[in-house]
Amino acid sequence: MRARLKDKFDVIVVGGGHAGCEAAAASANMGAKVLMISMNLTNFAQMSCNPSIGGIAKGQIVREIDALGGYTGIVADKTMIQFRMLNLSKGPAMWSPRSQNDRVLYSVEWRNILESLENLEFWQDTVTEIIVKKQKAVGVKTYMGMEFYSKTVILANGTFLNGLIHIGTKQFAGGRIGERNSTNLTSNINKLGISSSRMKTGTPLRADGRSLDFSLMTEQAGDVNPGNFSFLSTKKLKKQRSCYLTYTSAEVHDILKQGFERSPLFTGRIKGRGPRYCPSIEDKIERFASKDKHQLFIEPEGWNTIEYYVNGFSSSLPEDIQFKALRKVAGFKNAKFFRPGYAIEYDYFPPSQLNFNLETRQIENLFLAGQINGTTGYEEAAAQGLMAGINAFLKVQEKPAFVLKRSEAYIGVLIDDLITKGTEEPYRMFTSRAEYRILLRQDNADFRLTVKSHEIGLAGPARKKKVLAKYRKINSVEALLKKESVTPEEINPFLKVRELSMIQQKIKIETILQRPQVRLIDLYNNVEKIRDNFMALGKISTDEMEEAELIVKYRSYINKEKEVADKLGKFDEYQIPPLMNYNAILSLSNEAREKLSKIRPETIGQALRISGVSPSDISVLIVFLGK
Ligand SMILES: Cc1cc2nc3c(=O)[nH]c(=O)nc-3n(C[C@H](O)[C@H](O)[C@H](O)COP(=O)(O)OP(=O)(O)OC[C@H]3O[C@@H](n4cnc5c(N)ncnc54)[C@H](O)[C@@H]3O)c2cc1C
Repeated sequence: MRARLKDKFDVIVVGGGHAGCEAAAASANMGAKVLMISMNLTNFAQMSCNPSIGGIAKGQIVREIDALGGYTGIVADKTMIQFRMLNLSKGPAMWSPRSQNDRVLYSVEWRNILESLENLEFWQDTVTEIIVKKQKAVGVKTYMGMEFYSKTVILANGTFLNGLIHIGTKQFAGGRIGERNSTNLTSNINKLGISSSRMKTGTPLRADGRSLDFSLMTEQAGDVNPGNFSFLSTKKLKKQRSCYLTYTSAEVHDILKQGFERSPLFTGRIKGRGPRYCPSIEDKIERFASKDKHQLFIEPEGWNTIEYYVNGFSSSLPEDIQFKALRKVAGFKNAKFFRPGYAIEYDYFPPSQLNFNLETRQIENLFLAGQINGTTGYEEAAAQGLMAGINAFLKVQEKPAFVLKRSEAYIGVLIDDLITKGTEEPYRMFTSRAEYRILLRQDNADFRLTVKSHEIGLAGPARKKKVLAKYRKINSVEALLKKESVTPEEINPFLKVRELSMIQQKIKIETILQRPQVRLIDLYNNVEKIRDNFMALGKISTDEMEEAELIVKYRSYINKEKEVADKLGKFDEYQIPPLMNYNAILSLSNEAREKLSKIRPETIGQALRISGVSPSDISVLIVFLGK
């Protein structure tokens, strides 16, 4: 006999991982009455793998989450133990913030935030079934025999659905090490007409720092002037913990090979597809046989802990082989270990079954977010959670969906890729997936997204005000650089010291700044005339100065990308009727008919991005629709 709670919620969020936390917070902050049900309520946003947030393309996603009013950036800032801006030697489109974090504090900080949200309630249990009436999700049933009712349901189950852990020849059920898996739910969802498949991921062993000899490794410290993720003024780090760099060797590889015949990966016990770009060490040895060493980053798991994460040594080989091999790595001779690395297989739901608001096409009001959509990574999961949380409540309010374009956000690229292209291996974000990289910089995420988020009721007025004030300042700096000039007498001493070609006649400051070697902050600090010009603008922060400089230096690229985005964006305005019968359009290629019938694009723009649909198919479609 199931107990039915009287309360009816707007949104039920299943799962307290990165996706579930952002989803619950977003809808609660927009005013929804939310219930979060998770198997373990002492363990929010657990970092199942590396104790780190951000990195290439992922750092951009975190800045976007923050700009939209999510919490991943704030929590990362409050719990970071090291910060680095990656790719500074490349152009600004590639700069990517990354932090090392205290794993335990990260989860505690999330708990503090969630518990401070008035509209959010909690229940610790395992959801086993979705309650559906007339093809609409109306609630969930749980393992403890409860029924909860709501207008929408968001599933964010991560790696837990029929999770199966592999270490060598051992196999056991689990959602991640030390935690139960979730059975029943996948088959229930399959019965609703939503198909599932299997994927796999893996994690390395953890070592006892007291047993490592760091003097044999290369220290990697954080940035001298550490930054942060949030556009709000979170505190910057005053002290940091270092990571260490070391390498595997031919000897290490030989030992690992001894375990191949007991490897679940090579003997076919693991059926799910793993992340190609984050391979296990045994995969790397197989695929890159000519390489006799691979880099390992040794990352502390927190401020005070002795536990270290061995980045680059993910493995599901038998534990004796993992330990024996790693002890041959410089610094690990006497290493002791907390636990071996392992692989996990789990169910996911191919994301081409979703609409752009992350709601399933088969069951109305049922939303899916995070790893269960075939992605990998905390940031990708958190971004989807945020968007599902927003859209679930917009659906409740009968308001239009909140969908970001590919030219507006990496989050737009992520969701468009998932829905339009689907994925058969764990999807992670890369800068190369985005065609408008110079528009989607980490520094301007607030400019791109905060006002939009405010309009749908998430980002608060203070956030909006801050962004508008910031960009007013930046505009005035830009205008000043465009208007004011410097004479040879005023600027040549500066150029001479830096061995740059000097000028013969008066020149706009903007033209000087367009030289790659010239930095605005340097001009401001060293050229009196320019400093005097700036006085009239009031206080300008370093961030504002850097932003103005980027805009000036990269203006032509930015304008070019904007032009292309506007042109192609027009195709996204041409709607395709949802019940379109592609099989009736005989001049489409067979492949196009098959793909279009399966993916059912909402717009010509989306159809254009489906692989296998050619430009001539698009012309046929446009003519057919009379556009
Ligand atoms: C072994 C391992 C290795 C990984 N390696 C990498 C890597 O190398 N790189 C990388 O980027 N990412 C890696 N990840 C993935 C990363 O951990 C996930 O991408 C991220 O945690 C996904 O977030 P999520 O919110 O979707 O799910 P999770 O963080 O997995 O959270 C799922 C939540 O749902 C709850 N839950 C599940 N089922 C139910 C249910 N039926 N009822 C109630 N609650 C439920 C769980 O208790 C948990 O709170 C790895 C994960 C694992 C487990």
